Amino acid sequence: MPSAERFAALQTIQRRKPVAVAAPTPLAESWASDVFSLDTMKEALPRSVFKSIQKTIREGGKLDPAVADTVANAMKDWASSRGALYYAHVFYPLTNLTAEKHDGFIVPKSDGRAITEFTGKLLVQGEPDGSSFPNGGLRSTFEARGYTAWDVTSPAWLMRTPNGVTLCIPTVFVSWTGEALDKKTPLLRSNAAVNAQAQRLLRLLGETEVARISSSCGAEQEYFLVDNAFMALRPDLQLAGRSLFGAPPAKGQQFDDHYFGAIPERVQVFMQDVEDQLYRLGVPAKTRHNEVAPGQFEIAPVYEAANVATDHQQLIMTVLKATAKRHGLTCLLHEKPFAGVNGSGKHVNWSIGNSTQGNLLDPGKTPHENLQFLLFCGAVIRGVHQYGPLLRAVIATASNDHRLGANEAPPAIISVYLGSQLEDVFNQIKAGELKSSASGGVMQLGVDSLPEFPKDAGDRNRTSPFAFTGNRFEFRAVGSGQSVAGPLVALNTILADSLAWIADQLEARLAKGESLSAASFAVLQQITCDHGAVIFGGDGYSSAWHELAVKERGLENLRTSADALPVLQRDAIRELFSRHNVLSPVELESRFEVYAEQYCLAIEVEARLAVRLARTSLYPAVSAYLAELAASIQEQESIGLTPSKALAQQIAGLNQQLLDRAAALEAALGSAPHGADAHMRHCADTLMGLMGELRAAADTLETLVDDAAWPLPTYQEMLFVR
Ligand code: ADP
Ligand code: MG
Repeated sequence: MPSAERFAALQTIQRRKPVAVAAPTPLAESWASDVFSLDTMKEALPRSVFKSIQKTIREGGKLDPAVADTVANAMKDWASSRGALYYAHVFYPLTNLTAEKHDGFIVPKSDGRAITEFTGKLLVQGEPDGSSFPNGGLRSTFEARGYTAWDVTSPAWLMRTPNGVTLCIPTVFVSWTGEALDKKTPLLRSNAAVNAQAQRLLRLLGETEVARISSSCGAEQEYFLVDNAFMALRPDLQLAGRSLFGAPPAKGQQFDDHYFGAIPERVQVFMQDVEDQLYRLGVPAKTRHNEVAPGQFEIAPVYEAANVATDHQQLIMTVLKATAKRHGLTCLLHEKPFAGVNGSGKHVNWSIGNSTQGNLLDPGKTPHENLQFLLFCGAVIRGVHQYGPLLRAVIATASNDHRLGANEAPPAIISVYLGSQLEDVFNQIKAGELKSSASGGVMQLGVDSLPEFPKDAGDRNRTSPFAFTGNRFEFRAVGSGQSVAGPLVALNTILADSLAWIADQLEARLAKGESLSAASFAVLQQITCDHGAVIFGGDGYSSAWHELAVKERGLENLRTSADALPVLQRDAIRELFSRHNVLSPVELESRFEVYAEQYCLAIEVEARLAVRLARTSLYPAVSAYLAELAASIQEQESIGLTPSKALAQQIAGLNQQLLDRAAALEAALGSAPHGADAHMRHCADTLMGLMGELRAAADTLETLVDDAAWPLPTYQEMLFVR
């Protein structure tokens, strides 16, 4: 029998019914209806203005100030006609969150009237006080000015809340001195870098017509849903997004019965509500299913241009959280809300291409004959080998550390999985002769009524952090709560760097009179010899791989963020980002400082909360139960029985341990050293360990004391009750 509070929560949940939501609007009506899209602009703008803005979007470059006023006015009219009184420049600070500052369209006039107005100047540039956003020393607080500037390549949209409608304008966020304070600016710059270098290579390969090249991203979002009745009793889930205490349930995910299982009714209604809103916002949500753990789900949109996909990804996270609340649920985007249970990631599917050459990572059926593909794929392999530690650093957060390297998540060692067909092709290149591509063959199902179908030439490998999946790479180690911007910036930049190197090599060889195919082959062969060590098709979870990767292949195993974030301070990384004008040394350093600070803050908040919960919630509950137990023993003795005191003694011992360990953790919290590196080490090596010890005592107590005495909802309750 659970405690009275938990029992009340369970009853509340049993009585819940799926929230009534309107039947989904037909897609033709709802699709992008809240987006100031190109189509909307075409209708609303004079032809010349529309042409100008369309050109800016397609080809990059600056927006003509002369058209800004016209666009702003049309945007205001469109938004006002749908009920918007406010507009917001929306930007993405370094915290992984979304920030917005709201301003009214209203302008009071001297004659006492008020009109609405939205000028080109207001559309193109805003000036929020940026001093409260972490900036890693880029700006002192007395120089608080920050500017937001409209990113024309991502469309404006309407945010609907019970408070009304707001026109949201996606923007970059820069400091008074022009440094990037956000995640969008470097993403746009990294796209330009890829474009420049890919153009060079394609022209060397003989292409004459090459449209602007950009990266694409499709991000699969995993998340947990927990009922709000439980959340109220779990301050750790509320504050830290993960449970700091909780014994493993008798039934976990051992049965493998949840993945792709039937979606619970309440959750299905929630999902439909989410999708309906996303469609209005022009976010192409496509896939939904149960994930591996009980209470865990996934949503994936169709891929889009990386910049738009990144903005849409933030919207997906926002909509998931806001909608869950309306359904009496909380959406947890933490990478590991429940210890010992599958964690949540965000698989970032990434490719590059354009409208003239198509997807540059598409191998076709016979990749050995596809020189263009081999060079682009080779460029990725080289980049990941050279800059694997950077890829580890851009996914380094306190929460993602719980997942990486654990047994269901990609290891912290960054390697590339190519699949058997491509691995074979690259092995042939290494050996000096490229003859064939193995084909997948045909799958016989042994059922007359079913057709044969072609088998893929390569299988999947769930244990790889970075896998080729047919026509794209899938970066699987990204955290569920992260913005995808950082990983995309890193991927684009290392690709640009490799493409530049390949173009340099080809230019030199062609100048010496080598044929294009001989020169390309030589370059590819050099890549396989110098960087083949990063290719790995085996079991990434195995300890044998950890050993082999580090000792024989020379790959780095950066286990925690305290190991990984300092990579951002390496000379090679500073030079990489400077070379391609993606981040200046000062901008890069500021990122290191912000991420290091966020890492320490996250762990210290958890540690303080763990101390508080242990002392003020668990210890008193266990003591009360111990008193009952002691009284019962005394009563039994008074009538001549000889009850065992073993349980009482064990509980008393553990309860004392709980207090002692809380005190040790509190003391360690008070002795944090100065300096970002030392502070991170202290969190990783000392605080995390002490928190683990405190938790161990509490979790054992949970399995010993009367269920009615335990104050925190259990894993079993939170994961299985619907
Ligand atoms: P799985 O779970 O099998 O990996 P999903 O269908 O759930 O696959 O998700 C795959 C994601 O990859 C989707 O967002 C999809 O749109 C995206 N994707 C497909 N092709 C590309 C591509 N060429 N470039 C980038 N992303 C892609
Ligand atoms: Mg998936």
